[in-house]
Amino acid sequence: MLLRAVFVACVLATTVPAAAGTAAADEVPAGKLPADATPRHYSLHFTVDPHADRFSGETRIRVQLAAPANHVWLHSEHLDIAKATVTAANGETRLATAIPHADSGVLEVRFERTLPAGDIDVAFEYTAPFNATLEGAYKVKVGDDAYIITQMEPISARYAFPGFDEPRFKTPFDITLTVPTDDVAVANTRQLDAKPSADGKWKTLTFATTKPLPTYLVAFAVGPWDVVDAPPIPANAVRKNAIPLRGLAPRGKGKKLAWILGETPAVIKFYEDYTAQPYPFDKLDLLGAPDFSAGAMENAGLIVYRDALLLLDEHSPAERYRSVFNVNAHEIAHQWYGDLVTVPWWDDIWLNEAFATWAQRKATVALKPEYFGDLESLEYRLATMKNDSLLTARKVRQPINGHGDIETAFDNITYQKGASVLAMFETWVGEDAFRQGMRDYLASHRFGSGSSDDLIASLGKASGKGEVFASSMRSFLDQPGIPLVHVEVACRDAHATLSVGQSRYLPYGVLGERVPRWSGPMCTRFGHGARSDTQCFVFNQPEQRFAVEGGCPDWYLPNAQARGYYRFEMTSADMDRLGGAMAHLSAPEQVVYADALNGAFQRGALGPAAVLDAMPHLADSDTPQVATALFAPFEWIREELADDTARSVLDAYASSIYKPRLEKLGYRRTERDASTTIALRARLAEFLALTVRDAGVRNELARQGRAALGLDGSGTVDLSRADSDLLRSALRVTVQEDGARAFEAVQKEFAVNRDTAQRYALLAALGATRDRTLAEKARDFGLDPSVQIGEIYNLYDAQMNEPENRAAMWQWLLAHYDAYRTRLPAFRRGNMPKTFADGRCSAADADELSAFFAPRIKDLVGGDRGLGQTLETIRQCASLREHIGQRALAGWIETHETHSPANAPGAAAAKAGGQH
Ligand SMILES: [Zn+2]
Repeated sequence: MLLRAVFVACVLATTVPAAAGTAAADEVPAGKLPADATPRHYSLHFTVDPHADRFSGETRIRVQLAAPANHVWLHSEHLDIAKATVTAANGETRLATAIPHADSGVLEVRFERTLPAGDIDVAFEYTAPFNATLEGAYKVKVGDDAYIITQMEPISARYAFPGFDEPRFKTPFDITLTVPTDDVAVANTRQLDAKPSADGKWKTLTFATTKPLPTYLVAFAVGPWDVVDAPPIPANAVRKNAIPLRGLAPRGKGKKLAWILGETPAVIKFYEDYTAQPYPFDKLDLLGAPDFSAGAMENAGLIVYRDALLLLDEHSPAERYRSVFNVNAHEIAHQWYGDLVTVPWWDDIWLNEAFATWAQRKATVALKPEYFGDLESLEYRLATMKNDSLLTARKVRQPINGHGDIETAFDNITYQKGASVLAMFETWVGEDAFRQGMRDYLASHRFGSGSSDDLIASLGKASGKGEVFASSMRSFLDQPGIPLVHVEVACRDAHATLSVGQSRYLPYGVLGERVPRWSGPMCTRFGHGARSDTQCFVFNQPEQRFAVEGGCPDWYLPNAQARGYYRFEMTSADMDRLGGAMAHLSAPEQVVYADALNGAFQRGALGPAAVLDAMPHLADSDTPQVATALFAPFEWIREELADDTARSVLDAYASSIYKPRLEKLGYRRTERDASTTIALRARLAEFLALTVRDAGVRNELARQGRAALGLDGSGTVDLSRADSDLLRSALRVTVQEDGARAFEAVQKEFAVNRDTAQRYALLAALGATRDRTLAEKARDFGLDPSVQIGEIYNLYDAQMNEPENRAAMWQWLLAHYDAYRTRLPAFRRGNMPKTFADGRCSAADADELSAFFAPRIKDLVGGDRGLGQTLETIRQCASLREHIGQRALAGWIETHETHSPANAPGAAAAKAGGQH
């Protein structure tokens, strides 16, 4: 890491007075910077040539000293500071000593003498390398073109300029960029001015002063971008001025911006109506970066996306359109939630991310009802619950103890649990009161900072529920875990009583404290004949009883509208009655029913038969999330409980349920297809071809894959010959079926293909090979510089997805650990143990993983949490497997084989032929 010595103006190195008037510098701050120096304004000047390896910068910061001081603390990382000066309030400028503290990212600036309280200017001249792992100011090469892009969140602004790199410091920034004349350069605000250099080779662009921003929202980009002007977003009742809107894409891809530029004004208007606050900045640019570590970044006025999440054309899969819309709606929501009002410190980062996630769902439901935003967020929530079941789970509002906690704060607990908790409390207090609370919160903290407590106070006040609201919400934010609500209805004469208890939901084998401690709203739907009504209760005691209005129900669902962040447990008789009432439930409620089965299965309370027998009842749904709701436990049973014989029976069973559905939908999108049809087709095809390995489905997909790769005799590659929604599965199957010739065709196409989404599919195809030699070739290829950093995981995830590859993948990792690790952006390194854990389900598996990673954990930022969670998951899997044992599955297979025509001997044999 940072091993460089002190960088100072050379004359000063020996002239720092060691005594008189210079108190010894205090200790290097490990967490927040001390409160006695506050930045007020930055001037940033960067000289950037994308074809060079380094850039240079000049930074000037107005700093307010609260008390006399002879030094200030700030941040810098990998900056070679050639000169530092300090200008006192009286205008006198003196050299200062800049001392980087290795590994901490902290920079100490020592003055020659103690300066009085008040304003000073601290200025730096420095050069720095463009970052190699997509942080700070980094470089991406595409053919002969070179681009510079920035990514500052959470703590990477210090790679680009020295500063007070913490979210609580919000100041205006003046940015100027000196760049080659032919390049396009953009920053957070509108460009005011462009001045050519004397030799005509450079130009210096000046941008308008920003609104107060934290360092992590500063952004600029330089390169041969295509720039597409969209019509300005018109003024409206909330906003007086029109907002200029543009899209930027790598050279030649500008036309792929049309769709998202067309959708953006409605999204802006939606949030303006909701928040009653105008879009806060002077313009909006959407920029598609050719390589990017995360999905997208909400820089004020200049949102940066990985280009696959911004650029679309007629060949893009339907799922990609949905993602582009949702990601854009998420980032635009941040312009209010995060940019206009910013969290003071990273322990509240959930506010930014949960807000944006929750608000995006609202925008999607309102503007694109055909995307079924409620169901999508429900699926995310259920995936998050898996993580939140662990004892090692983070809290939503997690204390921050060092950089690792900052880098790992951006997980699904922050995004999805946070958003689910907001949605649950919104349902409880009503949309109107909730919106009022949100408006009050934004209005009172605009262009400043707002914390969790500020938000809770605003919402509690607007809802009229005050302290009950506050304590309930805190019970979900300040402790990890999921409540398991135990419910039972007792009927006597015409009166019904609902008894409610609570404990912590823990999967089998996880031994932790189960004592109840949540206070939460539980809305329950009671069915009476053809009608139903919903009543809401607050569970906040170990045991409670509530009277049910309307008498004894025929059935009830203790999570109406599927908005509650909890699981429920009911008697098997009540569960059966609920299963029988499926037709009365909404699609999200049906998913919640399936989750109740899955939750009981994971807890060891239900056996595999309950899951397997329920599959046909959900499979007929036209809603993809319902039809496929039990795929995850099915896959677990198939992989962890079944031997080869049992696996063939399970596969034939799944084929008998789902293949007729897929064949009815067909293997190609038609004009008439609803969005649900398209999504269901893609899910079923992937499941049947790649998990269940159905020979017939594989044949269909391989046919499309061969046509796309020119292996059907045509000799030319044209990926649009495959159905665009099935392309990713089709290419994977083709490489598995056709071996080297398909592998080589994919590799050849990858070398010339510039469509990011297609490149992901091509990489997944290389990773999916099950041929030993080709698989090794694929793993090595992942380290080739032609594979971009942001796309690597497509290859290794696909590789780990195939059980045949896992042992060799592990051996490969042992040999290539450093090469692999150093290609990953810092915040992805903590996930390494998880990436290589697929299929591990025994104590020995956990021990092996731990023995390798534990001594290396300090190289992986946030890796201790990642490793801890992975080990806990593996050990839990092992406990559950032992608890259920093979007998339970054998029993199901025995009864099933005697009853089901789908398992005629031929079915299993035909299927076995599809495996190699
Ligand atoms: Zn976000």
